[in-house]
Amino acid sequence: MLKHATPRTGLTTEQVAEARAKYGPNALPEARRVHPLVVLFRQFTSFLVLILIAAACIAFFVGEVTDTLAIGIVVVLNGVLGFVQEWRAETALNTLRNMLAPQALVVRDGQEQHIEARALVPGDLIIVNAGDRVPADAELVEALAVQVDESILTGESLPVEKACDDMVFTGSSVVSGRAEAVVQATGTHTEFGKIAELTGSVDTKKTPLQRQLGRLATQLGLAALMVAALILGLGLYMGQDPVEMFMTGLSLAVAMVPEGLPAVVTITLALGAAAMVRQKALVRRLQAVETLGSASVICTDKTGTLTENKMTATRIWTPKRTYKVTGTGYDPAGHIELDGARVRASDDPVLAAVLRVGMTCTHASLHHEGDTWQMLGTPTEGALVTLGLKGWCEAADEITGEIPFSSDRKRMSVSTASGMIFTKGAPEHVLDVCAIDAASRDAVLAAYQDMAAAGLRVIALAQRDSPELREEGLEFLGLVGLIDPPRSEVRNAITLARAAGIRVIMITGDSPITAAAIAEQLDLPVTSSLTGAEVEQLSDEELSMALQGDVLFARTRPAHKMRIVAALQNAGQIVAMTGDGVNDAPALKQADIGIAMGVRGTDVARDASDLVLLDDNFATIVRAIGEGRRQFANVRKFVRYLLSSNAGEVIALLANILIGGPLIFLATQILWMNLVTDGVTAVALGLEKGEPDQMRQKVKPKNTPILDRWGLLTILGLGCYTGGASLWLFWSLLEVNVDLARTAGFTAMVVFEKISVFAFRSLHLPCWRIGWLSNPLLLLALAVTLGAQVVAVYWPPLQSLLHTVPLSLNHWLTIGVLALPILLGPELVKSLLYLTKK
Ligand code: ATP
Repeated sequence: MLKHATPRTGLTTEQVAEARAKYGPNALPEARRVHPLVVLFRQFTSFLVLILIAAACIAFFVGEVTDTLAIGIVVVLNGVLGFVQEWRAETALNTLRNMLAPQALVVRDGQEQHIEARALVPGDLIIVNAGDRVPADAELVEALAVQVDESILTGESLPVEKACDDMVFTGSSVVSGRAEAVVQATGTHTEFGKIAELTGSVDTKKTPLQRQLGRLATQLGLAALMVAALILGLGLYMGQDPVEMFMTGLSLAVAMVPEGLPAVVTITLALGAAAMVRQKALVRRLQAVETLGSASVICTDKTGTLTENKMTATRIWTPKRTYKVTGTGYDPAGHIELDGARVRASDDPVLAAVLRVGMTCTHASLHHEGDTWQMLGTPTEGALVTLGLKGWCEAADEITGEIPFSSDRKRMSVSTASGMIFTKGAPEHVLDVCAIDAASRDAVLAAYQDMAAAGLRVIALAQRDSPELREEGLEFLGLVGLIDPPRSEVRNAITLARAAGIRVIMITGDSPITAAAIAEQLDLPVTSSLTGAEVEQLSDEELSMALQGDVLFARTRPAHKMRIVAALQNAGQIVAMTGDGVNDAPALKQADIGIAMGVRGTDVARDASDLVLLDDNFATIVRAIGEGRRQFANVRKFVRYLLSSNAGEVIALLANILIGGPLIFLATQILWMNLVTDGVTAVALGLEKGEPDQMRQKVKPKNTPILDRWGLLTILGLGCYTGGASLWLFWSLLEVNVDLARTAGFTAMVVFEKISVFAFRSLHLPCWRIGWLSNPLLLLALAVTLGAQVVAVYWPPLQSLLHTVPLSLNHWLTIGVLALPILLGPELVKSLLYLTKK
């Protein structure tokens, strides 16, 4: 076994370099990245493309060389476009995966430092705390009440206790306690490396929306095949040319299926996830993007999410005297004042005792780096250490034992070599273990209430002279009030969320009075508050009743979050829930959107979450919801757009067959419309910006269909017009020349489809309201696709492939006039609706 020579100082830089050269990085071989060729190949495996390839073969055998070529080119073009977009999506997801790289706390050259876990080498001294994922196989050299969840390795769900000399393994997580350990094996040499793949992966399972749309595409596909077969049979029965009838059937099938749909959805969601990262929200499951848009309640903790989590002690209360503290942050430049005069620990034994507990019962430390002070540890403890330095207090002697802090216990105690016990924690929880008479206790509670009402976080400190580490019969020393200012952006974010119909519920481990004071500073309405203990007394019905009002939950334990989420979900709400501790994982999993903290969260919470806030900020949740709403709205937009284009084609084709005319669109022309020009436009539509009133709309219920009755009506209405108009043009030119008529009909359809996109840029706002130029990519897509159509009409090679002939200016003008109502009609209707609603 590798033993560490000097366990307290860790490896030196040279030793690390040497070990790195010998053992390599602490990483498993990259999870297989999808090979570009696989992505390219995938483009040619869809049912539809297979039919097309078969059609191309048949066309080739019956001697239709140009058709074969045309179908081939369209299939290839479609494949290349699909590949470029899917590859972009894949790259975006890979970037997200890399952002989830795990971290480790290591001691090197005598300094504690956070490094990327992949930089660990055998021999490193690491520190793991409750909530951490173990970053390498390591042997414990120091262990305080350590319990480890090894289920990922053994399947055993109960945590295992670990003592000194025991091994902990990569991938398992520390459920409680704190340990120092020496790394024994890294990367592929670890137990985990032997059996598992990379953790921290971004799940790309299909989302319900993708599945819903996939199903729609399949249904349309099957229906299309049946209709095509019917037409083919009918035509043959009526003695038509079999090749032409076959191509007609194929055209119809192609026209009915929104080929681009599933790909466009995947691409939109993946690019959406990338857009969210720019907003500091990292999506771990694509589903979250979708669910976020329909979140109706955000349950948020307070410390660090609503507040800065930059604690500074401002007041000290002891039964004898009250002190003020100056200075901000972790810079110990301030001082402690008693009645306006500076005091130091050495002048005042009462003060000295209070400060010593904060200095000793802690894992935080301060370092002077350059011009600033850096704090390593939790902010609450950091603030107490800073306070000790401001009072010139010496840290007490060596720690010999510890009962660690947890959100459940809300206090922490240590024993020292000189036989003292020091305890700090939430006042109620410290008073519980103090020997104190009723009158003094009341005085403490009154002082506590006073500080909390000012929005301060209050920590009680106590001690006892005893060789044995037991939390009982302690001497109460005093209270320290810490200020933790609300984050400046949060107030606005709360107002925004409420305007969007989203409720915000604070669930905190802090005291109800402090929590209520902070809520008031943030304009978060609170009419009642419930403590964790009170929640336990309530039945499920009573809890549901309580949740109907503006309630705040305080002094909760992680287990309470679970009940609150479940109660809200039973009432039909879609719940986003934040959490950072190891015990928050079940609630995060239960919530519709589990949100973990990127900075202060534990690995366990992150693993259980759907979304990670890179800046721990509440305002980011609201921004992410906005982003989710934008994407869901955009999916609805391009689904309607693609279907309405297809509807126009099908209506024109069917009506024409019924009238008995020659084919209005050739199969290759339809392929051109659907695959080459519509796909590009739809992706650009997926990039529409959020609508100005996006966050003033009500929450969309969970299973809102993509297509409602109104949507179907729009699709049919537009389809009838575009189909009818191109059919009219086709018939009016048929006497001149069938190729000319077809070219005009085909071009008219393309132009109509391009113009109709403006009707779908917003489903309820007119374009002048969202800005005609606000989606430059869409305008570019329109320019490119219309340009392509001009080329298709005038460039001889494409002319022979698509059987087109040149159009005159008059034809173009007619098409333009016919297209005008498509632009103006929906715009007029939406303007009227918008102006009457205002
Ligand atoms: P939130 O749930 O909003 O993040 P919180 O940080 O107050 O709030 P917990 O972490 O559950 O929630 O802490 C509960 C209480 O325990 C705190 O209000 C504080 O009084 C006390 N406390 C916090 N950190 C420590 C610590 N390191 N040692 C002792 N007591 C602590």
